[in-house]
Amino acid sequence: MTQRRRRAPTPSGAGPWNGHVTREGRPKVAYRTRTEALSAAQLAWTINRADLEAYRCDYCHQWHIGGSSRRD
Ligand SMILES: [Zn+2]
Repeated sequence: MTQRRRRAPTPSGAGPWNGHVTREGRPKVAYRTRTEALSAAQLAWTINRADLEAYRCDYCHQWHIGGSSRRD
């Protein structure tokens, strides 16, 4: 039998992208202001074409950026 690699689960719909930790369980980079977070999101887009949004974190009360997987 061949071993199958487990793929990362891809939750359908809105995933928990707006938390304090990444999907890997590591704490996200925190920004003190929304402007800083937006700058980082802009940079991520420029470099990786990563579509990120800035949001306020309920846990540390700072700002994080995360990928929005919403599809309307
Ligand atoms: Zn946080």
